[in-house]
Amino acid sequence: MIASVAYTDPFGLCYDKQTKEARACKVTWSEANHSNRNVSTATMRMVQGIADRANVDLTLSSGRRQGSCAASLHNCGTAVDISAINGHDIGQMINGVGVTNPSAMPFVNQVQSVMKTMPDIRENYGPAGLFESKSASGGAQVQIYDDALQNAHNDHVHAGGQRYLQDEDTGP
Ligand SMILES: [Zn+2]
Repeated sequence: MIASVAYTDPFGLCYDKQTKEARACKVTWSEANHSNRNVSTATMRMVQGIADRANVDLTLSSGRRQGSCAASLHNCGTAVDISAINGHDIGQMINGVGVTNPSAMPFVNQVQSVMKTMPDIRENYGPAGLFESKSASGGAQVQIYDDALQNAHNDHVHAGGQRYLQDEDTGP
């Protein structure tokens, strides 16, 4: 069924694998994750924005975690980890080494490129590189280089929102 999709809308067009029909792009939590999904409403809106702009479906593996907001945006409820794009697993951590699935790279490049254009995004980490916009007012993301941080993000894309995204209602 395609009734809710506007074909003139350049954003948010995904395609059903079986029927090949256009539909809205989806953001879903992986089945493996049941405990830390409750990021802020504004953060989920940001993540849906990534899916819509990149025209892909996203699978999330991690959201809010315990701990101080200063230590990780996950603890603020403003970050998610994307583990798969259009059903392609981004990678695996094998004996402490982040290994990227080569077939996921075109999708990773598409998603991280789109993320670079979104001012709500503070941390854009993944196999395509590490990009940050950490000034309070947002602004353009700059690439950083950190071997340990890169290794930790070769198996997923981390989308961390600006801190103002935590101020809205938190989800269930
Ligand atoms: Zn993360």
